Amino acid sequence: MVEPEYVATIGLEVHVQLDTVSKMFCACRTSFAAPPNTAVCPVCLGYPGALPVMNRKAVEYTVRAGLMLDCDIQSHSKFDRKSYFYPDMPKNYQISQYDQPLCQGGGVEIDTDAGTRIIRLRRIHLEEDVAKNMHFAQSSGVDFNRAGTPLMEIVTQPDIESADEALGFLQTLKALMLYSGVSRCNLEEGNMRCDVNISMRPAGREALGTKAEIKNLNTFKGVQGALLYEIDRQADVLRGGGEIVQETRRWDVDVGKTFSMRIKEDDHDYRYFPDPDLMPVVLEPKEIADWRQELPEAPRARRVRFVEQYELPDYDAGVLVADKAVADYFEEAADLSSNSKAVSNWIMTEMLRMLAEREGAITDVLIRPAALAELIGLVDDETLNSNSAKEVFVSLFEDGGMPAALVKEKGLAQVSDSASIEAFVEQAIAENPKSVSDYKAGKTKAAKFLVGQVMRMSQGRSNPQLVMKALESRLAD
Ligand code: ZN
Ligand code: MN
Repeated sequence: MVEPEYVATIGLEVHVQLDTVSKMFCACRTSFAAPPNTAVCPVCLGYPGALPVMNRKAVEYTVRAGLMLDCDIQSHSKFDRKSYFYPDMPKNYQISQYDQPLCQGGGVEIDTDAGTRIIRLRRIHLEEDVAKNMHFAQSSGVDFNRAGTPLMEIVTQPDIESADEALGFLQTLKALMLYSGVSRCNLEEGNMRCDVNISMRPAGREALGTKAEIKNLNTFKGVQGALLYEIDRQADVLRGGGEIVQETRRWDVDVGKTFSMRIKEDDHDYRYFPDPDLMPVVLEPKEIADWRQELPEAPRARRVRFVEQYELPDYDAGVLVADKAVADYFEEAADLSSNSKAVSNWIMTEMLRMLAEREGAITDVLIRPAALAELIGLVDDETLNSNSAKEVFVSLFEDGGMPAALVKEKGLAQVSDSASIEAFVEQAIAENPKSVSDYKAGKTKAAKFLVGQVMRMSQGRSNPQLVMKALESRLAD
């Protein structure tokens, strides 16, 4: 393989909205579906003199997330004011954490083509989200419902080396956040937004190149596209003898390019200073220890366990644990079934396909784990053939209920008694003399056709293996 001329160094800053009931510093509800400016109060509207009160739950969620990501939890931290002037920031400063964040260090293990890698974290701090600017044909408006929503900022070390690794990191991070239950991580709702820093340097050189920052990417695809574009752009500039400008760029998804927005501010332009209205955050070792105790099993550990306990292929286990709700569903059904591989198959194929088509969530699905386990039992004891089982699955998926009752009600039970099958076989032979002579002339395909005829006559309910056997023995005469 030819060594690449330039190598990329990438760091991410991921903003994750916390799924708390109320906002970071006031009692307003965190609600995005509400009509504009209906979940607001003097605090989150930035009225002079209004005093913030810290949401302790948001601190707890950030620490839980930090524990899940192997961070060092800081027993002392504080809030600072980050000054900037923009219509989405009513106070003209954002309450954030500067030099004493809640979590430091940590890392995320990701899978790459070359094996697993650890992407180290620098820190996680807690801050408040800003309002949302809305632009209309003749005017613009600001919706403050989002202002003050608790927001974690997760900052990586510049350990990422490609667009694919960035994507792998974000997918793994999302799974970990869903597992820890601190965020809904719904990208459409803007629960996760990402800034990326990227620089290029000649292969073999230690010192990092000048970086560009691309702000506010709200899809994983956007992160990947922007990085692929920047890697090419910066390498082209360097190859041509040019210099990279330190600047903030924006990703235009329609054009598939990044564009310069402004020369990057340095930290001191934000004039950080401790917020005098808020007490420092002090965490007791006991609290942190309790939250550590309550950590859920991490996806990687769960994957290994699924392979051992349920004898699943590693691939299946990986697909199932990627989403905590899917893995929970699997476990509940597999514990009620004697055929875990079948449970995994149904979930990975029919279930995930139908959920994707309907944009549904497995937590709301009407076919409950007990019903899926029962359905698999009916297939395994040959009450149902695979065609009828799919029909039952679709019906339960749409309307709920239990399979055994449905099979009885609709008469879907597989025909396995030899007398009925032999009668169908006789009829198929009588109606298809050409296929019979083909079969006798050695064309085994003709047998498949005859089985198909029997299945059709029995509305798909015959046991296909028994039909084949009956045919073979009848035509052997
Ligand atoms: Zn408020
Ligand atoms: Mn931030």
